[in-house]
Parts: sequence; C-alpha cells; structure tokens
Amino acid sequence: MPHRTIHLFRKGLRLHDNPTLLAALESSEVVYPVYILDRKFMTSVMRVGDLRWHFLLQSLEDLQKNLCQLGSCLLVIQGEYESVLRDHIQKWNITQVTLDAEMEPFYKEMEASIRRLGEELGFEVLSLVGHSLYDTKRILDLNSGTPPLTYKRFLHILSLLGDPEVPVRNLTAEDFQRCRPPDPGLAECYRVPLPVDLTISLESLSPWRGGETEGLQRLEQHLTDQGWVASFTKPRTIPNSLLPSTTGLSPYFSMGCLSVRTFFYRLSNICAQAKHHSLPPVSLQGQLLWREFFYTVASATPNFTKMAGNPICLQINWREDAERLHKWRTAQTGFPWIDAIMTQLRQEGWIHHLARHAVACFLTRGDLWISWEEGMKVFEELLLDADYSINAGNWMWLSASAFFHQYTRIFCPVRFGRRTDPEGQYVRKYLPILKNFPSKYIYEPWTASEEEQKQAGCIIGQDYPFPMVNHKEASDHNLQLMKQVREEQYRTAQLTRDDTDDPMEIKVKRDHSEESISKGKVARMTE
Ligand code: FAD
Repeated sequence: MPHRTIHLFRKGLRLHDNPTLLAALESSEVVYPVYILDRKFMTSVMRVGDLRWHFLLQSLEDLQKNLCQLGSCLLVIQGEYESVLRDHIQKWNITQVTLDAEMEPFYKEMEASIRRLGEELGFEVLSLVGHSLYDTKRILDLNSGTPPLTYKRFLHILSLLGDPEVPVRNLTAEDFQRCRPPDPGLAECYRVPLPVDLTISLESLSPWRGGETEGLQRLEQHLTDQGWVASFTKPRTIPNSLLPSTTGLSPYFSMGCLSVRTFFYRLSNICAQAKHHSLPPVSLQGQLLWREFFYTVASATPNFTKMAGNPICLQINWREDAERLHKWRTAQTGFPWIDAIMTQLRQEGWIHHLARHAVACFLTRGDLWISWEEGMKVFEELLLDADYSINAGNWMWLSASAFFHQYTRIFCPVRFGRRTDPEGQYVRKYLPILKNFPSKYIYEPWTASEEEQKQAGCIIGQDYPFPMVNHKEASDHNLQLMKQVREEQYRTAQLTRDDTDDPMEIKVKRDHSEESISKGKVARMTE
C-alpha cells in the first residue's frame, strides 16, 4: 500500500540531492512537504538571530517557489513540533513521516520523539543522511566505535571507507506527478510568513540571500573558475578582502540549501581534469572534510558544545567578565582589526575563517581569557552559517582547548590584519569613524598625536575607545596560564594531537619537565 506521507524539512531545504524526499515520493500516493516553524525551539535551542531568521524565511520562500514549479507546494505550519505533528497526522491520515537524519542532540531527540509518536499513532518513520558526506556512524564503526580525534586519523579511516555516496538525482515534475500534491487551499493557509509577521527587525538584512536557487548560482559561479578551484589553498586566502576570498557557501551548506555531496563531486571532477591541484587539509575538498571531521567527533563526544563534561576539552578556569565580553561582542575593544570583524559579523552574518581566528583568539587565550563557550554562543546568534558541530569544534580549536596545539602562536590584533591589508580598506569600510586616519595609524589609532586625531576627525577615548587591554602584557600572562593548564592536563591535551602536529610540542613532550618550559624553550610567536 502506498503511503500518505508528511515530508518534514528541518535543514535540507533543497530539491537537488535530497534522498529522503525522493524516497518519500517513491513510496507514497500523497506527500505533504511540511516545515514546522517552532519559534520557541528556534530561539531558545537554536539561538537564531535576526539575520538567520531572514535567511531562513528567504530559503523557505525559495523552496516554496521551486516546489510550486514542480506541481507541489510547501506548507509552513507554526507551532510546537509535537502538537503540530499530532494534529496533522490525524487530520491527513498520515502513514509515514520522512525526515533527514541529523546528528545534533536536539534533532536526534526530536526524531526519537517522532518515532515514539509513530508507535502511538501507527505511522512509520523514515530518515536518511543527507547533510554530511558520510553517515558518521560508518566512520565510528571503522574506528572501533569511537570518533577519530585527529584529522590525519580521520583521513585514514576515510581511505578505508572509500568515496562518499554519490548525490541522488534532482527531483522533477514527474516525481511529484506520480503522487498527489496537497490540496491547493492548504498552501494558502500555510504560507511562508513575512519577517513582520514574526516581528523580525527589517533593518538587519545580510548581503547573503537565502535559498537553494541562490546557493546553486553561487556554486556554479565558483566552479566556472576551474583554476581557482584546483589551486585553492586556504591559508593563502585573505581575511580582510572586501568580497569573500573563499567560496562564501557556508550559509547554504549550513541550512542544507546546498548539498555537500554535490559540491564534493563537482570538485572531484575539476581536480581530475587539472594537471596539478591542492590537497587536504588546505584544498576545497579538504575544507569539506574538516566539516565532516567536526561532525564525526561531535556525533560521539558527550557535551561537545560545553567545556564541563567534555572529555576532549581542557578544563580551564576562564575569567567571567560580562563587561569585557560585551565590549568584544559590540565591537568596542579599541582594536580596529577586531572591531571591524565583529562589525562585519553583526551586519552581514559572515566573516572569513582567519577573521574568525582573530576574534576567537582575542576573546579566549590571546587577550581576554574569556570562555570559548561565550564566544560560541555569540557566533551562534550572529552567524548565518551557525552550525552545532563546526562552531564548537573551531572554538575549542582557537582557544587551544582541543585539536590545536601550537598554543604559543598568539595572533597580534594589530599586525595580523595589516599583513594582508596595509592600507586598512577593510577597517575603513566597517569602522567609518576611523576612515580618515593615515594608513600607518589605521590599526593602532591611539598612537596618532592629538593633532593627527583631530585632523582625522576622531578623538581616541571620545569617538572611538582606547584599546581595552595592553596586548603584550595580557597575552604574555595568558600564555603562562595556558602552559600551566597544558602541563597539568597533559593527557587530555594529547587526545586530539597527532605526533607530527607540532614539532615544538614534540620537544616539550620529549624533555617533558616544567623547567624546560619555564626556561622558555618553547618560543613564543606573535603572529
Ligand atoms: P570555504 O573555505 O569556501 O570552505 C567550503 C566549506 O567547507 C565551508 O562552507 C564549510 O562548510 C566547510 N569549512 C570550511 N572551513 C571549515 C572549518 N574550519 N571547519 C569546518 N568546516 C569548514 N563554519 C560553519 O559553517 N559554521 C560555524 O558555525 C562556524 N563557526 C566557526 C567558529 C570559529 C571560531 C572558527 C574559527 C571557524 C568557524 N567555522 C564555521 C569554520 C569556517 O570559518 C567557515 O566554515 C568558513 O569560513 C565559511 O566560509 P566559506 O564557505 O567561504 O568556506
């Protein structure tokens, strides 16, 4: 008997490479494509900020349009997940719910509760993996049931597994014609809400427009430049270019408007035709594998987004300081490079990877010694691409709480930005109050004389703050704290480290004594 199916979109807001929706269409006489807009869940669990709300609504609007073109429609039902499902399963005589399998604990719990509801009300549940390259369970199985904790080990396991599943075919009008669409009246009743309906500020609009159509266009644009794709080397991309120097596709992957498998295989084709191409970890495929790495580790690490109870994370006595955190968050640190990045983040919802490095290091082990969890929460609210596993994984990395071990490398909030943008065009764009300073002062305007400040139309301490810390003193102090933590928690630090990771740390390991470290054999590098 063919099913009467609700296909529940959570991420996966697309019609290309959507294995779960394809399976729904192949097994049903009627399919209701549904998005449950549970505002409480989105705000309290997912911490969705205004920019991401806009991106989500645009993505739903696009999905609705694309479904309509294939003879179906999207039904956006507002309310609490379980009660919406309970109501509509009975109303529409549903026999099957299909949904993408996700790995975040809150989504897993949601799937478990839908399965319980299925047992109670008598419907089946089908979930397939569509958001990552691999089913992370297969990776864990090959690694004796535990996550590989280093990228190198991870790549080794993948080499045993072979290539990821190939994308499924794009959905067509024929797929939808094989089963009945929902009644036309329903689409009218359950339309995509407008931002005003949800009281979302209209002021905050990012240059990134949500949706599969826009995501695919951006992807195609990048792929036309095959030389750029083949030679992509992440560390050579520029954090302060005025347009993204990397693909800028992360918001589309994060919401599932784009399939990572589609991107992966398109990259494979380009690399296969290129005479030379870059390799992981720095190539574009290498970036997707970083994503996969964090997904895998997060899927099997308790309390992955927290320090306490997280077995791979160093336990650090971070400073609680709401005032300092507020200054960082609201771009008032007094370091133009840091404040420009935080302004771009607030205005646009996307910043370059190395810009994320700069502000994350500054907040945590570099200058302020504030917990990475606080930074992660701010990113979660402000980033369009906010992602449970990648965000937490990278915050642990940058704070040297896990994965990253060259903790003596501390980014300088003055020199880092200057290296790739000596004229400070990026700072001038995002902090217009500083735009008239000569280039030699743009990263440290407090060093300009009073006269020069007057000429630039900006008095430091009045129109723009003084630096909130002395970087040299703060980072020296924090480096000592970090050395001590790593000595005391040597075993935890080793869990996420490859032997070949860092020659300086190997030295520490070999003559592992307090003396060798305190005598300064570990050179400090301020990048
Ligand atoms: P590209 O360089 O073009 O890479 C292509 C894709 O690979 C990205 O879209 C992304 O899906 C993946 N990718 C790239 N770098 C990484 C990485 N280091 N780890 C995992 N996956 C990666 N990325 C998110 O998608 N969501 C987050 O919440 C997030 N939080 C971060 C927090 C911090 C503190 C840091 C340092 C990085 C974070 N990143 C996050 C990773 C990375 O910065 C972004 O994925 C990348 O900058 C997105 O830009 P892009 O699409 O142009 O990347």
